[in-house]
Amino acid sequence: LMDLTKRLLEIQTLLKSIEQSDSGTSKSISMQLPSIVVIGSQSSGKSSVLEAIVGQEFLPKGNNMVTRRPIELTLIHEPGLETPYGEFPALGLNKMKDFKAIQRTLVDLNNSVPDSECVSDRPIELRIHANNIPDLRLVDLPGYIQITNRKQPEMLKHRIRMLCEKYLVEPNIILAVCAADVDLANSEALLESRRIDPLGMRTIGIITKVDTVEPREAVRMLSQSDYPLHLGYVGVICKPVKHKSDHNLEKNTEVVLSEARYFQKNLEFRRPDISVGVGFLRKKLVNVLEESMSRSLSGLVDAVQADLEETKYEIKVQYNDERITAESYMTECIDIIKQRVKQFKQNFGKTQVRSEIQKYMDSRIISICEELYWNDPRAYQMGEHVLGGSSRGWLSETLSNVTHAVSVIATAIESALTEIDKANVGSTVSPSNNGDNGYQYNNSAKKRRAIKKKNDDEFSELGRVPNNRNEQKDVWSTENDIYWDHKLDRAASMLVKSGIGRNTTKLVVDLIMDRIYEIVDTPPFSYHPDARNRVVKMASEILRSKYMSTVEQVENTIKPFKYEIEYESRDWDAARASSIELLDREIEMCKKEIKKEKSKVSKRQLNESMKLVKQAVDSGVKFNNVLTEIISRQETPRRQEFDNVDNLQENDVGKSENNNVVGKNSAGQGQFIDMDLVINKEALRSAVQVISLQNYSQTLQFRKQVVSSSACAKAENKKFCMEVFLELLSQKLAYSAVLFINYELLQDFFFEVPRNLDVQMYNLYRNEAGKVAKTFANQNPKIKAHLALLERKERLENVMERLARIVRAQNLAESYKNNW
Ligand code: GDP
Repeated sequence: LMDLTKRLLEIQTLLKSIEQSDSGTSKSISMQLPSIVVIGSQSSGKSSVLEAIVGQEFLPKGNNMVTRRPIELTLIHEPGLETPYGEFPALGLNKMKDFKAIQRTLVDLNNSVPDSECVSDRPIELRIHANNIPDLRLVDLPGYIQITNRKQPEMLKHRIRMLCEKYLVEPNIILAVCAADVDLANSEALLESRRIDPLGMRTIGIITKVDTVEPREAVRMLSQSDYPLHLGYVGVICKPVKHKSDHNLEKNTEVVLSEARYFQKNLEFRRPDISVGVGFLRKKLVNVLEESMSRSLSGLVDAVQADLEETKYEIKVQYNDERITAESYMTECIDIIKQRVKQFKQNFGKTQVRSEIQKYMDSRIISICEELYWNDPRAYQMGEHVLGGSSRGWLSETLSNVTHAVSVIATAIESALTEIDKANVGSTVSPSNNGDNGYQYNNSAKKRRAIKKKNDDEFSELGRVPNNRNEQKDVWSTENDIYWDHKLDRAASMLVKSGIGRNTTKLVVDLIMDRIYEIVDTPPFSYHPDARNRVVKMASEILRSKYMSTVEQVENTIKPFKYEIEYESRDWDAARASSIELLDREIEMCKKEIKKEKSKVSKRQLNESMKLVKQAVDSGVKFNNVLTEIISRQETPRRQEFDNVDNLQENDVGKSENNNVVGKNSAGQGQFIDMDLVINKEALRSAVQVISLQNYSQTLQFRKQVVSSSACAKAENKKFCMEVFLELLSQKLAYSAVLFINYELLQDFFFEVPRNLDVQMYNLYRNEAGKVAKTFANQNPKIKAHLALLERKERLENVMERLARIVRAQNLAESYKNNW
């Protein structure tokens, strides 16, 4: 007819899979459709009955075999099917034609429940397709009855009972299996079913092993009225009965035959008020189930409708009815990346790149000037010469002397402190102290002093170190011009040959990669580590493939600048303005550094230390004097104390019986003294640093004055205004570098990235079906939840449609019946 059971079984399967995919929700709509639940004590013949209904041997058997998980068995009638097969959908095991293999799988699944748990309520889903079975849904339960018969703790009995009760609820049909050779009054299955279904409204009694009792006795049992059941009893024989006439009946298909013969032979069974035979049982089950299904239909429709509405409401509230798919989400992600790259491209044109390169060039100019000019004592004389009368009496004399002196003093102080540190390292008091504890030495100051020393050497080579003011002022010879021309050549060549191709390209590549990291490390890509890594890899591969050629191109284009550089007066003016800005920035940086340095130690300590250093500078003290000064003023009293501790310790070690105590005491005390030393050392070092920075700042200001003077407005004075000349040169270099970096690197990069992005992403996440796999979308928890909800809605809608068709067909049948 209309295959109500079959269709509703399909719906039940659909609902079950919906319920399985949304974890946590407790309500179960699928349970609104009836199943036939089989209960019976061990050896009552439960398995034999189930196998007889299916017509296959597939259940685990043997005395030790106890069902530990519910087996949810769906029988699907397929008329044209030649070979029957079974399926475990949850395991992905499809079309198993070997029923022995099905049996083994069931044994394994049962054994997967550890002994300690005894039973599990995780059902085993098994579907069997055949042409000779009815559409049915049967559940084989863990035999709580079998197990309670054994010596099990109460807790476990309780758990088994709970599990079984879950399945014995309405509208399920209970199949109570009782063996004919056991008194019905003692049947555990009947006792249990009566507890849950007292009126026997949905219980079918199965009397098995009818052949083991006298036919008269069997008939009495089947027609008895002591335990009436609304759905009645059915007697079956599920084992070939040994009969005189036929001996070799072993196959299952012949069981039924043998049963039929037995009931035919014994005329006692030919009564209208009793029912026997597996064939009859099947039909009865089909009818009972279909009736029950039909009754459940309207309730089910309501439940599914309610669930669907709820799901829709949730989509509306949580996601504002937004429709997405795994594919659309991925496309959106790729678009976001493309958009960000595009934005980056817009903000990273030639102008931005040039300014970045110029920053790099400026830092090169600073270090070249430091190395060749700012620490050169003759630079002050030269400055004076350039400024002529307009000099504000700037320190030229003091500066030159002070710079030199600070440098000497700083070296001396450092040596003195190192000496003290060495002494500490040697002592037993604080062996861990390596002299640099708690102190960060400013490298640039150290470097400046090193450069200073080099310059002094250079001067010696040149013959003469000017140290007298008059001498400096009076003599401006051609020798001086040659000296500064030579210096300018050197400075220019240092700038041009400093590996500009490699450094600027590297700079731009690093900037690009930094931005790429930023782009992929913010949502949504931060949810997708594989995709993120792929983008990073792709970007760096593109850059790497262009890197060498860009470096070479840039080097080639700047080659001419190594020999000559052409410029106009407005170039010079622009460069002069930039170089003043550069000096300003450097002066500002000095201020900040000084402030930072001052914050490191207490004001009092710093002032005291600065006084000390300045005194040393003013008096032009020599190394030894400084050393003595420091030790006598700051350290000596404590050193003596320190030595005393040493002595004390040594004496005590000799005398004491308990070395540990002495060691501990002395170490503690030693540490205290050492801490004190470190604080003083820090103050001293900060003092040197501050003075050195102040000095540097003054130099910069002096140079700013020189560059700002009218002399430096003229390009022919370039040898006195090397900051301007270097700035000019750097601007030319930056301009050329940018041209080629833009052409060789940026354009290709921004062209290739969006194109590669699509290909790479879709390749990474395409599944076998060629579609975008859900794995990508599911990495983002919010999207995952959204997609799950949308899918739930879709599946519920599908169920609803099917249900509507069934209801329509039923109504049609109903009205047909009524009209006739
Ligand atoms: P379960 O433990 O309840 O699953 O019972 P089984 O189906 O394993 O059957 C227990 C025993 O009873 C087995 O040895 C079966 O061969 C036997 N048995 C089952 N049905 C019949 C029957 O109808 N007649 C006879 N004589 N023996 C049967």
